[in-house]
Amino acid sequence: MFRSRFFWRLFLGHAIVIVLTIVTIGALVVRKHDDDLLQRTRDGLRGQAAALSMLVRPEATVQEFDREAFVREVADDTDSRVTVIRRDGVVVADSVADAATMETHATRPEVVAALEDGYGQDVRLSETTGIETLYVAHVPTPASDVVRVAVGIRSIDEDAAVMTRLLAAAGAVASLLALVISAYIVRRIAVPLEGMRSVAAQLGQGNYAARVELSGASRRGDELGDMARALNRLGYDLSQRVANLTADQERLRAMVAGMVEGVVAVDEDDCVTFSNHAAREILGIEREASDQPLSELSHIAGIDALLTAARQSDSAAQCELEMSVTDEDAVVRAQAHRFNDQDSVGVVVVLQDVSEVRRLEHIRRDFVANVSHELKTPLTSIRGYVETLLDGAIDDDDHNVRFLEKIENNVLRLNHLVTDLLSLARIESQQGRLPLQPVDLHALLEEALRRHEPSALAREQRLVVEAPAGALRVLGDREALTQVIDNLIDNALKYTPDTGAVHVRVQQSEGSTLLEVADDGVGIPQEDQARIFERFYRVDKARSRAVGGTGLGLSIVKHLVGAMQGTIELQSEPGEGSAFRIVLAAA
Ligand code: ADP
Repeated sequence: MFRSRFFWRLFLGHAIVIVLTIVTIGALVVRKHDDDLLQRTRDGLRGQAAALSMLVRPEATVQEFDREAFVREVADDTDSRVTVIRRDGVVVADSVADAATMETHATRPEVVAALEDGYGQDVRLSETTGIETLYVAHVPTPASDVVRVAVGIRSIDEDAAVMTRLLAAAGAVASLLALVISAYIVRRIAVPLEGMRSVAAQLGQGNYAARVELSGASRRGDELGDMARALNRLGYDLSQRVANLTADQERLRAMVAGMVEGVVAVDEDDCVTFSNHAAREILGIEREASDQPLSELSHIAGIDALLTAARQSDSAAQCELEMSVTDEDAVVRAQAHRFNDQDSVGVVVVLQDVSEVRRLEHIRRDFVANVSHELKTPLTSIRGYVETLLDGAIDDDDHNVRFLEKIENNVLRLNHLVTDLLSLARIESQQGRLPLQPVDLHALLEEALRRHEPSALAREQRLVVEAPAGALRVLGDREALTQVIDNLIDNALKYTPDTGAVHVRVQQSEGSTLLEVADDGVGIPQEDQARIFERFYRVDKARSRAVGGTGLGLSIVKHLVGAMQGTIELQSEPGEGSAFRIVLAAA
């Protein structure tokens, strides 16, 4: 409390008022008392002089009356000095000095006044006694002598001084009492006020848990108590609101942080004030690289224009930005909204990497074009042969069967194509995952061998299966595995010249099984190897068509292997042959 400046200010104010009031009143009382004392003394002296003047009148006195002795006696009794002065100024009797030796008193102010008006007074240093003296002179009748009575001022002053000391002591005691009471009252106001001030300051600084202690003075039912309770309510409301706001902000922050879309906020000068993880990934910037202009940080052409457009528009500005992050070209769709940030206008940019979407769109367009083309070619052939037959060739026994065989070939090709397309569609509809179970590879390979042997024999090709004896079980899907093996053997035979050899090998290692289909055929050029698994991709279109290929076989194989959680890789040398290796989990 005693460190509280407010307490001291209030208390000092009170103290000054109290002391000033008491001192002023004391001074006035002393002054009034002094004046009264002087007045009373003067009146007393006047009465005394009047009484004496009756007695010392020459005509009223007997011969033997010793004026001198009388005067002395009276003066002794009344503690004063008495002087009788003749009208011409000669001193007749004096209670202090020898009248005969005294000079004329005709010019003394009190005497002059008394001779004129019957009464006179003066205060001065007495030439006779040498002390400050109050003189009162009286002349009762026009012919009388002047009777003057005097007292030393000092005796009056001493009386006054006693009174002053008494008053000063009383004033000091009263002041002390008043100051103690004032300190008590001020303390009752200052302590709770100081507490409230400190709590208000803490609330202002963000300490929303600060509360006024509702004890002592603050618990009262008066205005101060009300104020303390109001402040506590305010603190509670504030803390609730801030907690809600913080929770909202946290939720928002978590949402923005976890968004797939990138979010960047820039201030008035386009400097980054916030960025989420996705945005930093898309733009290729560091978390620390904030407070720098966005355009400098990410060097994306067009971002400046987007920010400017957003600032000038009430609605969102959008554009697609092309940028090279790492080695790939990425397409990013950017949407910018402006927002008011205190006094300035900031912009929030939402970025979405649409490269994959664009790539898939591209693939889809290509696919549709390819499918149409692939369907159109056999259909055109069929139509041509049918028209020729209708135009009369049907009766041409040399050619009609050949034309019908051509039609059949094209229909078969169409059938292949549609079957392959349906296979692809089915695999994709399963979202690339097949239910896996142990499958016996021996049995599968034997069946495949039986199916392909006739065509191999027809072209004098050797089809050899090399598999370790004993159980050979992999984790997969029987139908899918059959399709994969058939496709690979079929390709190997197709792209291997007559009398060539195709080897199907199986190797088992810890937890996995390797299935290899190798041929010594035409091989695949290095530059085509990366694209060989794409739909409709063929190294040599004419050759593929000639051997009845659709360009979808390897694409189906890759999808099926992936759906069985396996891997496939290719090793090939043009002119030397190709080897497709599949690794699957052993059952
Ligand atoms: P297709 O039906 O044309 O055989 P695939 O998807 O099965 O389609 O194969 C794509 C292309 O890959 C083929 O057109 C061919 O050029 C090449 N290819 C596939 N397998 C082999 C192989 N064993 N040897 C050489 N080239 C192959």
